[in-house]
Amino acid sequence: MRNRRAALAAIASAASLALTLTACGQNSEGGSEEDKGGAEGATVGIAMPTKSSERWIADGANVEKELKSKGYETKLVYGEDDPDQQVSQIENMITQGVDALIIAAIDNKSLGNVLQQAKDADIPVISYDRLILGTENVDYYASFDNEKVGELQGSYIVDKLGLKAGKKGPFNIELFAGSNDDNNTKYFFNGAMKALKPYMDDGRLVVRSKQTDLNQVTTLRWDGGTAQKRMDDLLTSSYRSARVDAVLSPYDGISIGILSALKSDGYGSGDKSMPVVTGQDAEVASVKSIIAGQQTQTVYKDLRELAKVASNMVDAVLNDKEPEVNDTKSYDNGAKVVPAYLLQPVSVDKSNYEKVLVEGGYYTADDLK
Ligand code: BGC
Repeated sequence: MRNRRAALAAIASAASLALTLTACGQNSEGGSEEDKGGAEGATVGIAMPTKSSERWIADGANVEKELKSKGYETKLVYGEDDPDQQVSQIENMITQGVDALIIAAIDNKSLGNVLQQAKDADIPVISYDRLILGTENVDYYASFDNEKVGELQGSYIVDKLGLKAGKKGPFNIELFAGSNDDNNTKYFFNGAMKALKPYMDDGRLVVRSKQTDLNQVTTLRWDGGTAQKRMDDLLTSSYRSARVDAVLSPYDGISIGILSALKSDGYGSGDKSMPVVTGQDAEVASVKSIIAGQQTQTVYKDLRELAKVASNMVDAVLNDKEPEVNDTKSYDNGAKVVPAYLLQPVSVDKSNYEKVLVEGGYYTADDLK
């Protein structure tokens, strides 16, 4: 048990013992309260970014389930993609006396002050999926190998277009990235670029819009509508006399927006086939879209495993143990290198969704009908 909790428990236990002695006129021999030990009954605050995406709803439910199975109470809040709302939700949980916090940040840089309050109250913090930047007050990071996510997207495009097999193209590609206030965004983008850049450099992949820098292609708050609008604009400005062969999309919700714009422009019907479109999270709508031959690929991240990792971290810290980590160098948040446990993402398309998602028990076959 951490010091603060141990101290509070000792005070409470001494007070209750004093009351017992007064009431019964007994001496203390053999009369002390049972010490439950461990952190059972402690409350963990969970701050998730938004309910607008299926994955975060699953994250909240999975983390609660894991923690409850270990005997913890939970408080789960969603910040509706509003950084200020998330800050005040975390402040409230600190005031209510939670014993630990698990946070998936909306804006990775807006939590410095509130995490100082957590530190002052001796509340450990686990950064969940997205690294919180610019503060020492993050104890551990539970996530996936985020650069690998991007590599899987980029290399999927390279393979699917036949570039690795020697096709010359040139093929036209447009690039989309996630929200610029999410630390994962640059990892996804850089990972994808590792695979794509050699072909962009030798002219076999062409970005007709010339928008190739991360800051030109981000999508605030990962919003599908914003991506749809940008894809509409790109089609109008750069593809009146050419076809798009591939679109790098970092997330299923963004892919849905991109696909809508493509469909409105006639892609996916007649002889205008859909370009290769990537994604991430294996959300139901996107897996269905993959089965229907619209979206091409997604990157599956087993959120059940992530919830276990984060819950085990909390459990270890609250019991004064060292959580298991497997990366102590990759995630420097500007104030420190945050010890991390990174899980492995998996590329999913029409050829393996049944094996990975259905046989893996993530979805039932009915979920995908
Ligand atoms: C997560 C992705 C998710 C994206 C949008 C990222 O931080 O790692 O899994 O697709 O946020 O919610």
